[in-house]
Amino acid sequence: MIFDVLTIFPKIFASPLSESLLKKGLDKGLIQVRVWNLRDFAEDKHRMTDDYPYGGGAGMVMKPEPVIRAVEAIKEEDPDAKSALLTPQGERFHQGLAKRMSAHKHWILICGRYEGLDERVRMAVVDQEISIGDYVLTGGEIPALVLIDAVSRYIPGFLGGEHSVEEDSFSQGLLEYPQYTRPPVFRGLTVPEVLLSGNHAQIQRWRRRESLRRTFQRRPDLLERALLSEEDLTFLRDLRNQKEMAGQG
Ligand code: SAM
Repeated sequence: MIFDVLTIFPKIFASPLSESLLKKGLDKGLIQVRVWNLRDFAEDKHRMTDDYPYGGGAGMVMKPEPVIRAVEAIKEEDPDAKSALLTPQGERFHQGLAKRMSAHKHWILICGRYEGLDERVRMAVVDQEISIGDYVLTGGEIPALVLIDAVSRYIPGFLGGEHSVEEDSFSQGLLEYPQYTRPPVFRGLTVPEVLLSGNHAQIQRWRRRESLRRTFQRRPDLLERALLSEEDLTFLRDLRNQKEMAGQG
């Protein structure tokens, strides 16, 4: 999986890519992250990548030529590469989109700064627009890192060991069950007994129910789209009844 990142602040990527699983993924060759400085694609003598907005107003706008040249150079090398512009105006990023993106092996990630990019970049070379949430950040670099992290987790071998991304929150449309580790008792707070029982069937059942309970309490909207068994539905009906009774009491 190749991520080509276009930015005017390439140094931002050094630290996140030099630790933990992202570093291991790079070392093992499971992912490749190439960070390109957009200034290197500017052809004027000052290597300008931004300019004043037409029509006036505050701030600067990123010039179209360096970004378009950079994307075209990468696409010339690999015509299958797809480009994604990080923008608060794009499709909201979510687990399903991360999974879908992992099926494509080469992404060009375009990071904006200032007031964003000249609109002609979108028109000329952008295949997809992605937002990491309804808030505005100073640049697209952190969103690009979010995307690299979330997409890479779907690459076989990236997470190592037996961890499966399918067990995490959102993968099956639910939030994950609560996790515990040693010690079994801490300041009077105990680990649920079933987790110490060694009975895998019971543990699985408990985890499914806690996952349903947590989703019901925190993100009931997710339940509308989740794949639920008859047993799940009965459990959720009980939770709803309990809540109604508590409300009446
Ligand atoms: N004026 C732009 C607007 O209102 O849509 C926002 C520009 S923002 C200050 C600068 C850059 O940060 C954007 O071009 C984009 O690359 C990035 N950015 C900011 N918030 C983002 C978000 N929620 N998701 C993805 N990228 C974001």
